[in-house]
Amino acid sequence: MRALVLKEFGHLVVEERPDPTPGHGEVQLAIVATGICGSDIHGFTGKNGRRVAGQIMGHESVGRIVALGEGTETSGLRIGQVATFNPLILPEEDLKTFAGREQHSPNKRVIGVAADIVSAFAQQVLVPMRNIVPLPDSMPIAYGALIEPIAVAIHAVNRAGVRTGDGVLVIGGGPIGQSIVLAALRAGAAAVLVSEVDPERRSLCERLGARTIDPRVAPLAEQVRAALGRLADVALDAVGLTSTVNDALVSTTFGGTVCLVGMGNQRLDLDAFRVSTEERTLVGSFSYSVQEFLDAAEWVARAPKELGELITREVGLEGAHEAFAGLARMDGTPGKVLVRLDK
Ligand SMILES: [Zn+2]
Repeated sequence: MRALVLKEFGHLVVEERPDPTPGHGEVQLAIVATGICGSDIHGFTGKNGRRVAGQIMGHESVGRIVALGEGTETSGLRIGQVATFNPLILPEEDLKTFAGREQHSPNKRVIGVAADIVSAFAQQVLVPMRNIVPLPDSMPIAYGALIEPIAVAIHAVNRAGVRTGDGVLVIGGGPIGQSIVLAALRAGAAAVLVSEVDPERRSLCERLGARTIDPRVAPLAEQVRAALGRLADVALDAVGLTSTVNDALVSTTFGGTVCLVGMGNQRLDLDAFRVSTEERTLVGSFSYSVQEFLDAAEWVARAPKELGELITREVGLEGAHEAFAGLARMDGTPGKVLVRLDK
């Protein structure tokens, strides 16, 4: 098989690797498409320290089952089936302790992040049977690669407590912000407003059903008040800088909620009185529970037509390095880039 290897930071090469063989309880997937995540870009540049040289990344993916290991007989899975996988692998003994909040397991290993796992920028991967989520043949197969980022968005919207009728502010209209728009509307938000500097990303978000503002035009709170007729009930920050979190705080009502999803900076300087005296709730959000991943899969399986908007382009393995380099220098790609591994 061929695989995209992070040779060194800033340098991806396509290499030939032996095909894997599924062990006990494992399923072998022939990958069709894998999305490039912001975390992969930071891994590529070396910025986040969560990827190492020599690694094969890739955690937003879809493929077809090509082999089933021993002990998978009762799974109901079959060869040829379209499937995605939940990249969070929990040890057996943590399944009960962390039921419903599997992302909190300190012993989890993540496909695409753990350096010793050959992940989904390879043509063949091995996945534990319980991480496999079968998908219908009826949906455009590439949509399967959107399930993971949509699960991130569903979790963020759940953490933020978005309720029917809420006015929701999303800061940052990149791929995660875009998925949050869809998840917030799905959760019943009356209006979703996206703050984004890039005009192409703004128009993409508008096609998803959001209204948009350019944060450079006027103070954000002022623009939010003008657009929604009041401050936002909930703000989700998909950027994560001191400026954006403070913008989120001042753009929400007293008692509102700010959900921190973006990881722009490790340290933030916050206006603490916006949290204390005005009783806003600041919550963090990272990955998703097993149930939220399944919710995302079920939703994507219905193939709502807006999903197509999230995918800006597809490249082959040979074009992957260039795609990563382009995204790393912020080449203006508004949405998701998928790497096709079936060609
Ligand atoms: Zn990701």
